[in-house]
This record gives sequence, C-alpha cells and structure tokens, in this order.
Amino acid sequence: MGHTLDPKILYDHDLHIHTTLSECCKDSEATPSKIIKRAAALGIGTVGFANHVWDASIPGASQWYVPQNLDHILSIRSQIPEDTQGVNVLVGCESEYCGQGRVGISREAAEQLDFVLLPMSHFHMTGFVVEKWQVANEKAVADLLVQRFLEVIELGLATGIAHPFSPLGFKDSVDAIFLHISDGAFEDCFGRAAELGVSIEIQPNMLPGSLGRETEGFHDASFLRVLSIARDMGCQFHLGSDAHKLSEIGNTMKLKPYLEQLGIPKERFRSFAKLHSRV
Ligand SMILES: [Zn+2]
Ligand SMILES: [Zn+2]
Repeated sequence: MGHTLDPKILYDHDLHIHTTLSECCKDSEATPSKIIKRAAALGIGTVGFANHVWDASIPGASQWYVPQNLDHILSIRSQIPEDTQGVNVLVGCESEYCGQGRVGISREAAEQLDFVLLPMSHFHMTGFVVEKWQVANEKAVADLLVQRFLEVIELGLATGIAHPFSPLGFKDSVDAIFLHISDGAFEDCFGRAAELGVSIEIQPNMLPGSLGRETEGFHDASFLRVLSIARDMGCQFHLGSDAHKLSEIGNTMKLKPYLEQLGIPKERFRSFAKLHSRV
C-alpha cells in the first residue's frame, strides 16, 4: 500500500555525512564547502557532519580511532564557509559502541556537538567492537544486534542510532540474520527507543535496492520489516546518506519509494531536525 510522500521529508536533512576528516573517506573532494554547495544545489535544508570519533579522554581506542579524536573532528569548524548558501549546518559525530557500556564519547565531548550518532553494529571491527566468538553464526549476530541496540539507547548519549541493526561485515546474510529476530524483540527495542526519543536512521545502505545492490542474501524486505515496526512503535527518524564521497550527497533522495511505502508521518522527521538546529 503506497502513501503520498510529503517531499519536505526528503529535502529536510541529511544527518550522516563524512568528510575528509574520516579515515575511511578517500575522496579529497568531500570537504565541507563542496558538500554544502552540493546540498544547496539539491535543495537539502540541513546537513549534519558525522565524522568518526573516539574521544581521547576515553582509554582503549583502536589504532584506527586514535587520530580521530574530538579535536580532530572539531577542526571542521574552521573549514565551514561563512556563507552556507542557506543550508543549515550541524556538526555532529558518529562515535562507537563496543558493548558492556564501552562507548567512544564522553558526556563533555557530546555537549560540544550538535548531535551524536552511535552505531551499535560495526561488527567488522573484530577484536575491538566484537570478539569473533560473539559473531560466530547468524543466531549469535542476531542476538548481539538486539542486545547492543538495547544497551546503546540507554546510555543517554545518542541523539540517533547510525544504521541501526545493520550487521556490518555480514552484509550478505542480513535476511537470514533477521529471521532470528522476532517482531516482539524488535517491538521491545523500538518501543524503548521511542520512549527515550532516540532517533532511528534510515539510510541507503539499509535498503540495498536503492543503490541497485540487492543480493541473494540481502533484500529490501528485511529493513522494510524492521522500519515498519519502528514506525508502528512511534519512533523518531532521521535520514542519512552515510556519504563518504561528494557524489553520495543526495543519496537520501534514493529513499523516496521506500519512504512512500513506509508512510512515516512527517512530524516524526521534522521535530528532529528542528530540535538540534542552532539557527
Ligand atoms: Zn557506521
Ligand atoms: Zn558513517
């Protein structure tokens, strides 16, 4: 069943954007000024920079995270042009969660940012985010996704969850992994996220068809199920491209048919962007 989509949702914001300050960004063009210019041309109202961060005040950073500390990602402020061409610019982050309360950002650091995205499923970072035995089979991955989600929303640090339930490192078995998570388990997770006001990200990598990348083991139906439950439980949502290249700014527009299908009320998105706007 389709719904009429208010186009304002699509053009309102993109809150998950990496720049050259993220180690995994290999595009020298992905600078704030070029990203803002492209967003302005596309009509995107708010851009949120969400570079990877592990705050230096918290011990235990992996080698990869060490240089990506708070000072590093805050240096973006000197890169943001004076004239943002009408685009509202937010400086946030994508930090890290390693289980058992181990999170890569302190409360003090979070207060210096406009928003904090916490991922709970960077399961490709074995030996840091997860131990190999914790993700030994699909059922184990499924159980850990639920556990980590429930833990991370309770930390009181996350404005929103980056790519919630996306099992990174297990992209080709998402369908099988989700079969091990009951509707009831998802309802518990999203019901609590709704109570806490922690926002659920919708991004193209969760809906592989949006990028022409459906595989035998990962179909759009998997996250359409998950996001429908989040919608029914009353969650707040935000959109993110998770862009690591300048050309990926605008990828949120590829979510259009999915948002039409999901029919999430517009207020569930707009309140988020307004809440965190400093303008
Ligand atoms: Zn991520
Ligand atoms: Zn990201």
